[in-house]
Amino acid sequence: MEEKYYEISSENIKKFVNNLIEQHNEVIAPKDKDGDTFYDKINNFDDADLNILLPKLSFKEYLLPKTETLFEYSISGSNINICDPLENIDVNTNANNSGKAADCGDNISQKRIIFGSRPCDAGAGPIMEKVFNWDYKDEFFNERFKNLYIISIACDKPDNYCFCTEVQLSPESSFGSDILLKKGGSGYYAKVITEKGMELINSNSENSSLFKEISKDKFPADKDWKATFDIKKTQSFLDKNFTSNYFQEKFLSCIGCGVCTYTCPTCHCFDIQDEGTNEKGKRIRNWDSCQFGIFTLHTSGHNPRVTQGDRYRQRLMHKFKIYNEKFNKYLCVGCGRCSRNCPEDIDLKEITAELSLMESSNKPAE
Ligand code: SF4
Ligand code: SF4
Repeated sequence: MEEKYYEISSENIKKFVNNLIEQHNEVIAPKDKDGDTFYDKINNFDDADLNILLPKLSFKEYLLPKTETLFEYSISGSNINICDPLENIDVNTNANNSGKAADCGDNISQKRIIFGSRPCDAGAGPIMEKVFNWDYKDEFFNERFKNLYIISIACDKPDNYCFCTEVQLSPESSFGSDILLKKGGSGYYAKVITEKGMELINSNSENSSLFKEISKDKFPADKDWKATFDIKKTQSFLDKNFTSNYFQEKFLSCIGCGVCTYTCPTCHCFDIQDEGTNEKGKRIRNWDSCQFGIFTLHTSGHNPRVTQGDRYRQRLMHKFKIYNEKFNKYLCVGCGRCSRNCPEDIDLKEITAELSLMESSNKPAE
């Protein structure tokens, strides 16, 4: 759709969010929990903590839960019952054919509104969507994504770990958002990017009356964010230096805890397990991590990625080379969480910048 622009006062944005909650929507926002901030359900606008840069974790778990039931089974005599969480849902139209959700798994058609996400987190959805649709269509992901509405607020003060601009986004990017808010005027300016965004604004007459339409030129222009290094050069270095000793030395301190992948909004590896007995059980998928030593361990005992250097190189290759070659984007939104949360202070921005510099100076890889 053609983008639309509005302004809305601070008082009215509060009314808007509270109306969405009263309309029985599940609204998720950054929320304080024991001194840290996480995306969580709010029952009132005032529950949201909109002053922090980024919640500790992204909202990935609303698209790809840590544990997700793919089906359940039960056996009684000669009867075998299978319950598929998708069975009553027409995945093309989103209609619930029977009018009720399957009696197993989560309610994957739950409409959720993320309010106050940052542009980096919003950008992760369409990046993951490519992975979940390039060959097999993952209807669990698609169903959740279709029902997720994203209202982001632009950043004004990224920190030293952030590098969204370097990965071709920016603190004011609207990529992946349905509505992007920027602070200003009597509260906020709003850019509505998608039909889903319009649906929220027009969800009732009171909501639409809270927004005053303005022309595009009244919407604040983006600042001139400058990338501090050229990520294409990082990619080029990775392309040529798979066997470089750089990776082995650089990641000697990595303890393989997987925190970088679990906190990452775009890491999406999972493992499938069957849990149960001869009578009943379920098939689930759980988050997994390429940083774990057993991630690539074969049943023969052979492991193609023996060291943490091999494993972190894989993470770099996937994010900054392989994904880009396939989808012309990076598998990283530059949120900096992997660096902020790493117990060994391994800093991805520093590393990608270093590789870029080595490529620029034609420093031979050792
Ligand atoms: S969070 Fe740090 S120590 Fe843990 S696996 Fe990732 S890079 Fe290694
Ligand atoms: S790799 Fe690190 S900086 Fe990039 S999206 Fe994941 S957590 Fe954020």
